[in-house]
Amino acid sequence: MSRCPECMGAGGTNLKKCSQCGGTGQITKAQRTILGSFAQTVICPNCKGHGEVPENICRKCGGTGTSRQTKDIKVKIPAGVNDGSSIRVAGGGEVGEDGEGDLYLRIKVKPAKEFNREGQDIFSEKEISFSQAALGDRVKIETVDGSIDLNIPAGTASHTQFRLRGKGVPYPNNPRQRGDHLVTIKIRVPKKLSREEREMLEKLKNINP
Ligand SMILES: [Zn+2]
Ligand SMILES: [Zn+2]
Repeated sequence: MSRCPECMGAGGTNLKKCSQCGGTGQITKAQRTILGSFAQTVICPNCKGHGEVPENICRKCGGTGTSRQTKDIKVKIPAGVNDGSSIRVAGGGEVGEDGEGDLYLRIKVKPAKEFNREGQDIFSEKEISFSQAALGDRVKIETVDGSIDLNIPAGTASHTQFRLRGKGVPYPNNPRQRGDHLVTIKIRVPKKLSREEREMLEKLKNINP
């Protein structure tokens, strides 16, 4: 329920002082019980506590001041939110007698194929050939900021982990501070070899058995 766009929530035009409560928004009711008479102050049912009622009732909302509406809103997602985080959108909820409520968004993060997240750290894998591992090379690593170059030193073993400092997830309460990105190197062993490759590897095997 939103504020009626026709009357802006007033319920109509030409507001007049409520005759039932005299503009105070409250009425006093006498209650008779077996213990005696009590005076009880309640919100005026005629003006709902506003003290004024429109002379010309809004045709769109029938004087309630609210109407059912569907609207699209843009919500800024802060960097570093995680699965299950809540984001409060002030004034995005229902309009009631006490004004606008808030909207709470529960965030679900879609898993990524190439990245895993643990806390503020990001994990990924990079496959390299065994000649790249043996001789060293410069390879491209995909990060959430785009691709960067990583130096693979000669003689890198499979499952070696490289830490890319500050390339992880920002901390929500301090976005300038970020976790790290850890890349695990996997050495690709070819399943099919050409005759030439086979000959070269056989030679290598004989030199360094
Ligand atoms: Zn009233
Ligand atoms: Zn209206």
